[in-house]
Amino acid sequence: MYVGVRAVASLCVVLCATGSLGLAISSTKTYDEIRAAIVDAEAGYGLGGKVFLNLDELRVDRTLRAMKKYELQSPERGLPAAGMHFFDAKPLIENSSIFGALKLMPKGAILHLHNSAAVSSSWVIKNLTYRQEAKLCHADDRYYFTVRPLNNCPESQTRPIADMRKERQKDVDAFDAWLETLINMKMKPSRNGHASIDELWADFESCFDAIKGFLQYKPFFEAYHRRLLHEFYQDNVYYIELRMSFAKVYDADGREYGAPEVAYMLYHISNDFRRQNPAFHGLKLILAKHKNISDAELEKALKLYENLSVTFPGFVVGFDLVGQEDLNRSLKSFASLLLQPPISSGPPKYFFHAGEIVGYFSEADENVIDAVLLDTKRIGHGYALMKHPILWHTVRRKQIVLEVCPISNQVLGLVRDLRNHPASIFVAQNIPITITSDDPGFWDAVGVTFDYYYAFMAIAPQAGLGFLKQLVWNSIRFSSLTDEERQNITSTMEKQWALFVSEMSKETNWES
Ligand SMILES: [Zn+2]
Repeated sequence: MYVGVRAVASLCVVLCATGSLGLAISSTKTYDEIRAAIVDAEAGYGLGGKVFLNLDELRVDRTLRAMKKYELQSPERGLPAAGMHFFDAKPLIENSSIFGALKLMPKGAILHLHNSAAVSSSWVIKNLTYRQEAKLCHADDRYYFTVRPLNNCPESQTRPIADMRKERQKDVDAFDAWLETLINMKMKPSRNGHASIDELWADFESCFDAIKGFLQYKPFFEAYHRRLLHEFYQDNVYYIELRMSFAKVYDADGREYGAPEVAYMLYHISNDFRRQNPAFHGLKLILAKHKNISDAELEKALKLYENLSVTFPGFVVGFDLVGQEDLNRSLKSFASLLLQPPISSGPPKYFFHAGEIVGYFSEADENVIDAVLLDTKRIGHGYALMKHPILWHTVRRKQIVLEVCPISNQVLGLVRDLRNHPASIFVAQNIPITITSDDPGFWDAVGVTFDYYYAFMAIAPQAGLGFLKQLVWNSIRFSSLTDEERQNITSTMEKQWALFVSEMSKETNWES
């Protein structure tokens, strides 16, 4: 995996010191030698290119590369799954050897995940909607899950789901499938491949609106978040940073719980889960508010952040603004408040979504510039960063990691074929990235392994185990864990990684 010193020296002699490449080739090195040196140098320069691999890891690297070659080039399959839309590719991916290996691989931390879109839609339908309290409200051609009447949906239009299901008892599966369309992008009409980004976002936001009422009911909120930890832990994730708005929750007696009590509920759920699963290292929370707020609302949100971070130091760790960037307020429009927030503890640690767009030369596209100027610790997506090469240097020098969410970008229409995802450029440029899943519940990509599949097969098809190792350790390195927590999770990860390498070493079918 190392770039040979001689190879780099040759490259310099040939590519740097002379203005005539053809002449240099004929008089110094053969074409093939120089070509090989360029390929080696690029592999060594890119993300993961300098990662040390021991002998066992080198064997696994060869196995993974052989699996990859077969899966990407197997002619009878036509377009490889890596080039297909997730909705079409999912069954192919599930059957692939690479997916099996990635599922087994310890993924470290998940750094970009929204709580209300994290749990698989099928679990929500098969579990929460089967509870007696579950209701569905219909207003203005929209449906909303709830337990008690909603402000935007009158009681007269709210029905127990159990009653509705009884009326459809001959066709319960179809009824459940219809319910799932409310919180699953695959089942929306916009999945036909011709929807605009605005239409996709409208459907996407309708999923958040539909599920919101369920997550305000304490018993559902708790069951849902326990399931969230379960789904990610089953996918070999050991730590999660969760973005959420801290909406109020109420219980069966009608008692309401504000943001600090909601944080406390999650603190308990996380600790209980850790007790039952000692390899899991917990949860931290990032307050995330929608970008369609006023200055006054942002001030209130920043004060809420201060209150939460003081009450739960080390548990509520940052602040973010979310929502479709080209339709909502830009970071620039909030800059003065974000630079000097009206709170005594100074600016929060920011983890801004920025550059989750396809546009160029607009305030929304320039959100990546503002995110960096506002000292964001990580950038959510950073898809648009490819058009800002001056920022690449700052991002790399300051080691601001990009939270890359491949399937989310595909489902929300930024790129159809993930082989064209700009993260390929970031990988080639050795700009730090981490792979994460954003809202997997809304497209049935349980956990994060499907996103790793696209990262490995579509974004970095040339890469091997060193790349994966770098991604996994990046997720720990760029997390908000304290030094002590980092040491603890590192020790878990080293054990789990060794187990993974040992298990993969048993794969002998791929040796040439
Ligand atoms: Zn996000």
